Amino acid sequence: MAKVGFIGLGIMGEPMCRNILRKGHDVVVYNRTRAKMEPLVAAGAKAATSLAELVRRSEVVITMVSDPPAVRDVLTAKGGILSALSPGKTYIDMTTVSPETSRETGDLVRGTGAEYLEAPVLGSRKPATEGTLVILSGGDAGLSRRMEPLLLAMGSKVVYMGETGMAAHMKLIINQILGTVLCVFAEAALTGMEAGLPAGKILEVLGSSVVACPAIQIKGEDMLGERVFTPNFPLKHAHKDLRLAVETGKAAGVPTPVTKAACDLFAAARDKGFGDRDVSAVLRGLTDK
Ligand code: NAP
Repeated sequence: MAKVGFIGLGIMGEPMCRNILRKGHDVVVYNRTRAKMEPLVAAGAKAATSLAELVRRSEVVITMVSDPPAVRDVLTAKGGILSALSPGKTYIDMTTVSPETSRETGDLVRGTGAEYLEAPVLGSRKPATEGTLVILSGGDAGLSRRMEPLLLAMGSKVVYMGETGMAAHMKLIINQILGTVLCVFAEAALTGMEAGLPAGKILEVLGSSVVACPAIQIKGEDMLGERVFTPNFPLKHAHKDLRLAVETGKAAGVPTPVTKAACDLFAAARDKGFGDRDVSAVLRGLTDK
């Protein structure tokens, strides 16, 4: 059993960390908002008073924070992760970041003599709670194999994608498609409903069609119905991923006009105050009804 330090106890991090704890690992936690550590401490984790202390007490350090600036903060802050990493320790970042951020992180971490693995995840609150996430790994193949038993405490499958940056690329592809699909679903379904098609019929026929997909199955009913938008995947993070996908396309010399349009619709919904609601609230970029 490893000594694991877990940083970032949000919607995803809290259940992921809980599953590591359940497998019998020795877990130390740290969260910027300290109150969020309490449930895990009650379940048997130890609380660190600083990032550096967490790193000193751990063999493997995992982060699941919001975005590239948050990763940079926890790494490079005074008394941050980098200040305490050393040879023999491993740092795994599971945050959804750009390939560029992941490569920069890898360089900084390896500079301390520690090892680095990127490991973004597929799946939301439910698979995180059930320990059935799909985990994409990128970096040294041998390190990925060695970390697999620990990663499988949080997921049902680890897919090794190649060198550092490749797992980040793959994760952005998924969210690029998710974000754009939800936008066009919202536009098309709202148009049909304005013309008099009932929401239930639209969902039924979509579900039997060539464009049936789990994203619409999971999100569609609420989007066309009550519009509660209970946050499982916060809209602000989906917007961040579309922004990163546009930047990544630009760096690769690939035009991304569809992703850019989706990104703008997400920005409109965020600007109306839906950033902390679910990704499905992107519909609010189109209608206030
Ligand atoms: P979340 O609930 O918003 O949690 C974000 C976490 O990051 C919190 O613990 C927050 O601390 C911490 N954080 C943010 N900025 C920080 C900073 N500057 N310094 C230190 N800590 C900071 O997000 P989430 O839904 O768990 O998502 C986490 C990551 O996984 C994101 O990259 C997201 O895109 C990705 N992801 C999410 C889902 C999903 O369905 N939710 C699925 C797959 C991947 P505080 O508690 O102090 O705010």
